[in-house]
Amino acid sequence: MIYKIRTYGDPVLRTENNLVENIDDEVREILNDLVETMRDISGIGLAAPQVGINLRMFVVEAEEGVVRKVINPEFLEYSSKKVDHEEGCLSVPGIHKKVKRPESLKVRYFNENGETVEEELDDLWARAFQHEYDHLEGVLFIDKIAPVAKRLVKKRLLNMKKETLKNL
Ligand SMILES: [Zn+2]
Repeated sequence: MIYKIRTYGDPVLRTENNLVENIDDEVREILNDLVETMRDISGIGLAAPQVGINLRMFVVEAEEGVVRKVINPEFLEYSSKKVDHEEGCLSVPGIHKKVKRPESLKVRYFNENGETVEEELDDLWARAFQHEYDHLEGVLFIDKIAPVAKRLVKKRLLNMKKETLKNL
């Protein structure tokens, strides 16, 4: 099933997200539908709140054909080295700006089979993981861009918000 993507201004993107308590068929179906939706719009990551589901899970496909289904993620370590890289977001269409983030990190989460996964991620995997994690905290990449960049997109964001609210 392809979900409708919720866009900037939709309160669901800023709502608290609950821990997934049971990793059951219903959760696995949502994860599969998140993957289907992400691929349909050529994204590399999609978090549950972006489709209106306020649960702490997301999917990432930073390399074609390699999908991580992530439930209740935590960060264990960050690299001290940070890198600046352009990001975009399916919920903030048309806007791409640089965001500074740790280059690599160690994470822990549950996979769709309920197994604990601990691994180190770097480059695009690390970036996408952090971007999706932010969605679980109600944070969008545009909250993290430089003030001058933010001023440049302020009007577009305001219009996007109006459009979103009109169509809710
Ligand atoms: Zn996003």
